[in-house]
Amino acid sequence: MPWCPKCGAEFREGFTACNTCHVKLIGHKPDGTETIEEIAPPPEGWERESPKKQRILRIIRALTVVLLALAAALLLQHL
Ligand SMILES: [Zn+2]
Repeated sequence: MPWCPKCGAEFREGFTACNTCHVKLIGHKPDGTETIEEIAPPPEGWERESPKKQRILRIIRALTVVLLALAAALLLQHL
């Protein structure tokens, strides 16, 4: 089974690269000593997030920051 030396994910036979890290897969379970061979990132448009999705992700991130700030403020009030 091919493995990704970077993220450690196991792939099905026939795969040659990790589509998350864009590195070449190796033939054994990674133990941290492998040389990670970067490959060129995929062409434009491949697995690229749509602008709409990016905007939603940005909003979610902003909301998370606000919620964390609120939680911190509440915690400080109770101290
Ligand atoms: Zn990977």
